[in-house]
This record gives sequence, C-alpha cells and structure tokens, in this order.
Amino acid sequence: MIWIDKNLNNEPEEFKLWKKNKLSENWFNEKKPSEWWQEINKETKVKKALQSALLEEQGHICCYCCRKITNDQAIIELQNKDEQNRILQISVEHYQEKVNPNYMKKMFDYDNLLASCKSSSYCNEFRGKQKIQDLTLNPTKLESMDQIEVLYEFDKSKDKKNLVKLTSKNELIQHDLDHVLNLNNIDLAQKRKILVVKIQNDYAEKIKLYANFARDISENEYMDFTKQELEEKYLQKKHEGNTKKYPSSFPFVAKMVLENLFE
Ligand SMILES: [Zn+2]
Repeated sequence: MIWIDKNLNNEPEEFKLWKKNKLSENWFNEKKPSEWWQEINKETKVKKALQSALLEEQGHICCYCCRKITNDQAIIELQNKDEQNRILQISVEHYQEKVNPNYMKKMFDYDNLLASCKSSSYCNEFRGKQKIQDLTLNPTKLESMDQIEVLYEFDKSKDKKNLVKLTSKNELIQHDLDHVLNLNNIDLAQKRKILVVKIQNDYAEKIKLYANFARDISENEYMDFTKQELEEKYLQKKHEGNTKKYPSSFPFVAKMVLENLFE
C-alpha cells in the first residue's frame, strides 16, 4: 500500500457540475445508494473525468494492492496473458461505504473516493462481499500507512513458495489487511516476491557501484547520495518512473526493499 495525498483541488469540474445539477437537498432520500451510483455510471463523460482524476492522484495504482490500474478499455482488452504485469480495470472505491446508511451522504464527496482495482479476489470488490466492511487502515492517512510493515515469509513446504506479506502490530489494521481487503492472499504475496527479486537483481549492479563510489567520498556524502536516489526513484508522488520500470508495481514494497538494501 502507499500513502495517497488526497487533495480536493483535484476534483474534476464535470463531477462538481453534475452534483450541482443533479442533487437536490434531500437527494439521499430519493434513491438507494446503488441506484444513485447507477446515475453516475450512465454519465460516461462525468464518470471518466472522475476516474481519470483519481488515477492521476494515485499514480495509476490501486489504493490497496498497488497493482497498476486504468480506465482505458482499449488497454484492458489488448493485453496479453502476462498475469504478473497485467493492468487491471479501475473500480471507484468509497472509503466510507455507500451501502452503510451512516455514510450514504458521503457517497459523492471527492475526499471519500479512491481508485481501486476491480479484482474480485481482493481490494474494493472483495471488501464489498464482507459482512463488516469498516476499515481502520486508511491509505490517505500517513499515520495509518506508517503502521504497515513488509514481512518476508519462506515457505518450507514442497513447492517452496516464498511470499512477501503485509503486516501490522495494530490488530485492527492486520484484520483489514487479511480479512477485509484480502491483501495477503497467495496471488498478491507471490507477485510481491517476484517484484522484490526483480528489484534486488536490478540493484545488485548499482550497489556494487555505490560501494566503489563510497570508498572515495565521506560517509555523509554517501548517505546523501543513496537517500536522494531513493527519493527520486521511489518516493515521488506520481510514481511514473516506478510504474514504468515495474509495470505491476507495488511501490510500498519497492521502497522497503531499497531501504533495507541501503541500510
Ligand atoms: Zn487492488
């Protein structure tokens, strides 16, 4: 997962205008949440503008699993069967669920909307099938993201599948990861592992270079240099370089791997 810098200035004009024209004072009493959402789904331009704003804000990755997502139907249809690098379809996520009567009034609030993937096995769609859907974990809050750690798990069973899981000392967040969002299912855990190996291989050469470089400069300069590299490549808000290099990207994992490598 990765922190999302949610900004109300990113809300598209088309969406604001649609709300202004469509929503009466008592709109929430007029239709069921799902019927209201159908209304926006019918407005192709508004829907596309909203999706595009959310995608841009998050660097085109899912707010939970961090797989790459798109609202471009042509991209989805033209993909080959390369599952590791597959780009998933976007699903607009209501952080506070629209089906919960307490939150229905927030269903068109831009700060409650996130871009998720449309996988039926995890994230938004999986959450929608659970009895209790409230989340403690919140990708828009840094203090929430700071509580997630990466766990390398070596499976000694005969198929020897190494996994990379997400964990937290906060039991509620751990519950969200495992049961509400299903982010530690074997498919995602293996994909993370493949990415970790790829980053480690890509960086093995670079680390050798750093080691040579470090001999000639002071310790402080060396630290600054590696930190700058990390920030430039892996902490930028838009993740563009990152997602290009690692198409099925898990930037959070990438960041952790690199931090460990450079420690
Ligand atoms: Zn996802």
